[in-house]
Amino acid sequence: MGDRLYGGKVRDKILKQIKITAATVYITDIPVRLTRRHGSGDVAGSVKNAILKLETDAGITGWGDAAPWAVFTGTIEANAAALHVYLRPVLIGADPFRIEQLMHDADHAVVGHPEAKAAMEMALFDIVGQASGLPVAELLGGRCRDDIPLSFSVADPDFDRDMEMVKRLYGEGLRLFKMKTGFAGHAADLKRMERFRTELPADADLRIDYNQGMVTHDAIRQLRDVEAFKPTFIEQPVPGHHRAALDEITRAPATPVLADESVFTPTDALLVASQRMADLVSIKIMKHGGMLAGRKIAAICEAAGIACYGGDMFETGIAHLAGTHMIAATPNISLGCEFYQAKYFLERDLLAEPFPIENGRVIVPRTPGLGIKVDEDRVRHYAVETLK
Ligand code: MG
Repeated sequence: MGDRLYGGKVRDKILKQIKITAATVYITDIPVRLTRRHGSGDVAGSVKNAILKLETDAGITGWGDAAPWAVFTGTIEANAAALHVYLRPVLIGADPFRIEQLMHDADHAVVGHPEAKAAMEMALFDIVGQASGLPVAELLGGRCRDDIPLSFSVADPDFDRDMEMVKRLYGEGLRLFKMKTGFAGHAADLKRMERFRTELPADADLRIDYNQGMVTHDAIRQLRDVEAFKPTFIEQPVPGHHRAALDEITRAPATPVLADESVFTPTDALLVASQRMADLVSIKIMKHGGMLAGRKIAAICEAAGIACYGGDMFETGIAHLAGTHMIAATPNISLGCEFYQAKYFLERDLLAEPFPIENGRVIVPRTPGLGIKVDEDRVRHYAVETLK
């Protein structure tokens, strides 16, 4: 019976316990097709990711992606070193099935570096999923959704180019658009919103993300103007640590306010949730340190009636897949996801098959592990440094 259910070989491997035998970190530098401008800074030219390859004595390989941003979560240099120097000893010789234990050990090996820990955790889940024949969403408790509405970030300093892209994506079935604001002045922001509302059909769902770019003392007055354009939510208007101001803004305008930079850790989430300083929270595996950590934040929010959004950083399809499985298995992350970078931002993604987007929605894979293989030649092609 067991042989028929799991296949004799796989069951034997599980019983024998798989061991991790090698950890390689590739620092990739992938050219990008668009410029992204945010209240907190620009991203243009190329992006650097730390790609983790974990090998096992069972012949199964797991992949992870750390996607730091120096002005938001951390640096590529620090995260590559965290993986190579501090997390490698935790991983080599370990049983990849003990994910909770290994993530606990990772927190004791090096403080912070949530992007490196997210990469480590997704590579472990990738191995366990392949060994057990299950997609990661099933390992997390099972999927509650088979696809996730995709959001595109309207963030090009050349707004005409952005509007062309937005119209093209609307034609492809995409309905969620998040406009990045707070870098060109209030009047310019209002003009962009007005053009969006004039040129797009009424069912285009507009969300506004300031990335901490507002002047705190003027935020409420400016947000009253923004409400005329009926955004679904307003994301992180003020700096992350100005939580009392965030609280005040949440109480003032009628549009829901979403916290992103104000919530990294479960402790942050507890503070925001218990005092209801925001109406909504953005969950990012790079910010929280993995899928399990993201689900903890989502659970704390759920207890306060705060719905969550599936945010991301400048990730490859590898990290998008982990985020997709997490959202699929977490009912309270219900506001869609922004996993557009693999398809629309990077010159080329690192997955062997395209990251699955159909009719403006991300399709949750049904194949074991993260669900799509990595193109290793392409990882090596974009690698500027290899640590092993
Ligand atoms: Mg944000």
